[in-house]
Amino acid sequence: MSRTYDILGKVGDEQAFRQEIREWLAECTPKNWRVKWQGVREEDLKSEIIAWLGERRKVGLGTPHWPKEWGGPGLPFTYQIMVYEELSRADAPELDMFTISLFHTPATLFEHGTQEQKDRYLHGITHGTDIWCQGFSEPGAGSDLASLRTSARREGDHYVLNGQKIWSSGAMNAQYCLLLARTDNSGKRKHDGISYFILDMKTPGVEVRPIRQITGESEFAEIFMDDVKVPVENLIGAEGNGWNIAQSTLSTERGLLIFGSVERLARSFELDGKDARDTWMRDVQFRREYAALYGELQSVRLMIRQLLIELEANPDKASPTLPTFIKLIWGPFLQRYTEFLLRAEGLETQKWQPAIPGTSNSSRLRFNDFLKSYGWTIAGGSNEIMRNIISERILGLPRG
Ligand SMILES: Cc1cc2nc3c(=O)[nH]c(=O)nc-3n(C[C@H](O)[C@H](O)[C@H](O)COP(=O)(O)OP(=O)(O)OC[C@H]3O[C@@H](n4cnc5c(N)ncnc54)[C@H](O)[C@@H]3O)c2cc1C
Repeated sequence: MSRTYDILGKVGDEQAFRQEIREWLAECTPKNWRVKWQGVREEDLKSEIIAWLGERRKVGLGTPHWPKEWGGPGLPFTYQIMVYEELSRADAPELDMFTISLFHTPATLFEHGTQEQKDRYLHGITHGTDIWCQGFSEPGAGSDLASLRTSARREGDHYVLNGQKIWSSGAMNAQYCLLLARTDNSGKRKHDGISYFILDMKTPGVEVRPIRQITGESEFAEIFMDDVKVPVENLIGAEGNGWNIAQSTLSTERGLLIFGSVERLARSFELDGKDARDTWMRDVQFRREYAALYGELQSVRLMIRQLLIELEANPDKASPTLPTFIKLIWGPFLQRYTEFLLRAEGLETQKWQPAIPGTSNSSRLRFNDFLKSYGWTIAGGSNEIMRNIISERILGLPRG
C-alpha cells in the first residue's frame, strides 16, 4: 500500500468515505484477477481469496456487516451499501467461498451462540482460515425442511448423529457445518424436536460426496453421517429449539447478500450494453429487450434498497413481503437476462468456459451463468413455495 487508508475514520462524511474506498480499491484490488485466477488449483485459489480478505481486513472491511463487539466496524446500513456498491464498481473479487462463514454462521452465533462458541469460531471466520457450510436440506426435506430425519441421540457428553444431508454448498472445502438434526420425535408439530449443531467435518463417520452439476463443476455435496459423535458444547441454543434458530440463519439471505449480487449484475449489465454499441445494440429488437430488462433490473435494485432502509430503521418491523417478492423476481430475471445475452451475442458466448471456483460469475455473465441461473429459483426456498407464501400469508387465500 502506498499510503495508509482511513476508510472507517470517514464515517459521518459519505462523500469522503466513498472517495477513500475508491482510492483504496484502485490501488489494492488484485490486478487482472479474473484472468490470473482462471484455471488455478482450488487450494492456491483459496490462498488468493484469503489474501484478499486480509487486505480488506487491514482497512476494516473484512466483515463490513458485523457489529463492533465482534470485531466488525459496526457500520450503519447506508455505509454498508456504499461498501458493496464500490466493491462491485471496482470489480473486486467475490468472497463466495466464505458466504456461509461470513453471513450465515455469524447471524446464528451472534444471536444464539454461547460466549465460548463465539470466542472459538469467529476468529477463524474473520481470518479466512475456516470455511463453513450449511447442512439443512435432506432428500425428502427441502421445501418441507421440518420433515428432516437426520437423528441426534444424546449419550453422556455428546450426541450421536446419523443421517444424510444434500445440496450442501461448498461442503467439500468446509471445516464446519451448521447442521439441523432431530433430537425428539414425539413433538406435536414436526418443527418441534429439531436441534441445531456445529459439526466438525473431520469427525470420524462424516463422509462428503461432491455432486456434479450441469456445468460440469461440483459446488455442492452430500454429507453422510454414520454414528458421528458431536460434543454437547456444539449444540447451538437449547435442545429442540433448532427450528427458531434456523430462522436467524436464513434471515441473512434477504439483505446485503443479495444486494451485493444485484449490484454486481448491474455493473455487468452496463458493460454489456456499452460493449454492444456496434453489434447487437444496433438491432432495434435487441435494443428494446435490453431496455425492458434494464427497467426490471432497476426495479429489483430499488426493492432491495427499500428493504435495507426498512431493516436499518427497524429490523423487527421490516416488510415481510419484500424479501419474498425479491426472491421471486430475481431468479427468473437472471434466467431471462443470461438467455438474452446468449441470443444477442451468438455462438461465441454459447461456448462453455470454466468458472473461477468460489466466485459466482465468470468474467461477465455468459453460458455458465445461464446454466447456473436456474439454481436461483430453487435455492433458499423454491419460487413455487414463495408463491404459496404470497398467496396464503400475504393475500390471505385459502390453503391449497
Ligand atoms: C444453488 C443451490 C444452493 C443450495 N445450497 C444449499 C446449502 O448450502 N445447504 C442446504 O441445506 N441446502 C441447499 N440447497 C437446497 C435448497 O434449499 C433446496 O433445494 C430447496 O429448499 C428445495 O428443496 P428440494 O430440492 O428438496 O425440492 P422439493 O422440496 O422436493 O421440491 C421439488 C419441486 O416441488 C415443488 N414443491 C414442493 N413443495 C411444494 C408445495 N407445497 N407447493 C408447490 N410446489 C411445491 C418445488 O417448488 C419444486 O419445484 C441449495 C439449492 C440450490 C439450488
